Amino acid sequence: MMTSLAIFNAEQLIHKSLAMGQRRREHFGLSQASLIKCARMMWLEDRWCFPLILDGRKLMIFRLGDKVEDLIVENLPGHLLVSKTNEQQEGGKMFGGHVGWHIDGLACSEQGVFAIVEIKSVNQTRFNRLVKLGDLKQWDEQYWCQCQGYMGAMREKTGYDIQTAEFVAMCKNDSRVYQESIEFDPYAYEQIKEKIGWLVALDAPPPPEMNESDYRVKNFMDDDDQGVYLGRLTPKQSNCRNCRYAARDLKDERLRGRWGCRKHRKIISFEEQQRGCRSHEWVPELVPAQLIDDETMLFESDNGFQFRNGEEHLTSGQIAWLCRNDWQRDEVTHLVDEFDGEVEIL
Ligand code: SF4
Repeated sequence: MMTSLAIFNAEQLIHKSLAMGQRRREHFGLSQASLIKCARMMWLEDRWCFPLILDGRKLMIFRLGDKVEDLIVENLPGHLLVSKTNEQQEGGKMFGGHVGWHIDGLACSEQGVFAIVEIKSVNQTRFNRLVKLGDLKQWDEQYWCQCQGYMGAMREKTGYDIQTAEFVAMCKNDSRVYQESIEFDPYAYEQIKEKIGWLVALDAPPPPEMNESDYRVKNFMDDDDQGVYLGRLTPKQSNCRNCRYAARDLKDERLRGRWGCRKHRKIISFEEQQRGCRSHEWVPELVPAQLIDDETMLFESDNGFQFRNGEEHLTSGQIAWLCRNDWQRDEVTHLVDEFDGEVEIL
């Protein structure tokens, strides 16, 4: 607790600094691949449809996890040929550079057998469950897919006959260590690659695979995120990734992960993508209204309100506001007139 003599508030400053350091993820991370995770959720995350996490306490937990993982890598030097601490971190890109990956380490036995090393730090409850199950795939399917994805990607990139991943987890509460050797499953790798390749090529989000009573929707999403996931709200904030004019270059042999804008006919940089522009129009499937004419892009909401999206019509910010306010058009017109600008939902 801060005393009245304190000349600064450490908690506030640290949390603010962590929040200010938050950045969008440029590529789809192979670490996010999962064969059972809802494809719509993965698409929405990849297209920046949810706000950045700015909760300082959550961010500190993530950063502490990263530090613990670094500490483990630093203390396994004799067994690691390549790791993220010796500045030779091994990784790569695929699908035109839109999917990226980095391994924590690459180990080699005395017999010359290679294995990738994947490290996680977890809280006590999760760690105890992992020990009890003794099976990574049952405990966390996404981590298992991450190991499969990394093994497959490393095999393709290096040609090494990598047959296993050494999965190492440390309990954050008491530093116990769990280790499991994960065998390469070529069929799972092909499935993972196929799902990711399909997802990054999709122009519109697939339908939700979870309903509103699913515990993952109720417990792990706030009300607004639930609305976006269930197709009842547009995302809060517009950017190029959720604009209908943005397109990926999936064939770029130099793997630059390039995005182009079909409206302005140019390549858009990562910084530009985050800002978006005044010409932004939502990917139509993100608008919670029926597209009744796809030539004129005329939408109709449940209460019969008809509108178009665009600079000359309703801006994306106005639509985001309207769908959160029962499509009361008079209100938004009043707001825009009064403040003379775009509506932005924070
Ligand atoms: S129209 Fe604007 S927001 Fe949309 S992709 Fe082009 S630059 Fe981005």
